Amino acid sequence: MYKARAYSAASAKSPLASSTIPRRDAGQHDVQIEILFCGICHSDLHQARDEWHNFMPTVYPCVPGHEIVGRVAKVGAAVKKFKAGDLAAVGCLVDSDRTCPNCQAGEEQFCANMTLTYNSPDSHTGAVTYGGYSDSIVVDERFVLRVPSNLNLAGAAPLLCAGITTYSPMRHWGVTKGKKVGVVGVGGLGHMGVKIAHALGAHVVAFTTSAGKKEDALRLGADEVVVSRNAGEMEKHAGSFNFILDCVSAEHDINAYLNLLGRDGNLTLVGAPEKPLPVAAFNLIFGRRSLSGSPIGGLAETQEMLDFCGKHNITADVEVIPIQQINEAYERLLKADVKYRFSIDMASLKSG
Ligand code: NAP
Ligand code: ZN
Repeated sequence: MYKARAYSAASAKSPLASSTIPRRDAGQHDVQIEILFCGICHSDLHQARDEWHNFMPTVYPCVPGHEIVGRVAKVGAAVKKFKAGDLAAVGCLVDSDRTCPNCQAGEEQFCANMTLTYNSPDSHTGAVTYGGYSDSIVVDERFVLRVPSNLNLAGAAPLLCAGITTYSPMRHWGVTKGKKVGVVGVGGLGHMGVKIAHALGAHVVAFTTSAGKKEDALRLGADEVVVSRNAGEMEKHAGSFNFILDCVSAEHDINAYLNLLGRDGNLTLVGAPEKPLPVAAFNLIFGRRSLSGSPIGGLAETQEMLDFCGKHNITADVEVIPIQQINEAYERLLKADVKYRFSIDMASLKSG
């Protein structure tokens, strides 16, 4: 074991603060990565503040961060895919049982025994896993991804969660040219959703509560932008969508969006608000519409998404911050005031 520097929350009510955490020494199959950038996902905030208590209670201290890009510092003797000096990335998963039908199908995100990058039991240390708000991490090479060399690293980090979480359901529900696709909430996930749906060739409509994001949404790749607080603008799109991806982090009315789906249209929730969302049955019955959810993505699909983003030169629009500004960044996230993802420059951790 060795000590790594990190930022952690000591309780649901404490701000994140500088600390040290134990990391395992790289074993035979492990890659030790010096973390260069880590994106800030709204899930980090939900988890640090124990907002998902009934579903995934937080174990403290909690070190969030699952949008990790870095450089390989060391590899174990059996590692084949990476060598010291390579670029490497880690997303939301660091292990799974590898034998269940979901793992066999390459859909590790559905493995009942998956190990999340933070807040999961850590079989190596006997404690809990610690995420990417840290100067290094040690991960089995099977769960380490390759970063296309043309991508800006600060902007590539958010692909590891925001990118795959929006790419995976779009691929599953057949988003292609000729489809009308809505993306609700132009935040970290939503702005990636707009970019990816556009690159997949769909007609993209972005829904935002922030009128000030309209121009940006068009620049990001939306064909149309609807300010969702304006009922008249919403009504114009009634019954017309093939697919809508809901990326909202807080309570909101999903019935307003179910009504915008056409026959057999699907609304997929990726946003994970703290409280349950009511659904009116007739909004599903009429039109045989469906409502579903989707978690991140498997390893193979995450690599496919990274390669797709490399080919289309897609990265997140980031505000790069030093780790010392993490608590302020969380407050801005709560106000939907980030354009459009914070990416922590981990070199800042060296100064405390
Ligand atoms: P984010 O950057 O904070 O973006 C959320 C966006 O939702 C905001 O920018 C805002 O967009 C909109 N919004 C916020 N409050 C709202 C409200 N009260 N009513 C309507 N719209 C509101 O968050 P994120 O990192 O993209 O994450 C979004 C959600 O996805 C979080 O709940 C997160 O935990 C979840 N998530 C799920 C997965 C998964 O695997 N399913 C993975 C990652 C994250 P506008 O300003 O455009 O309205
Ligand atoms: Zn995330």
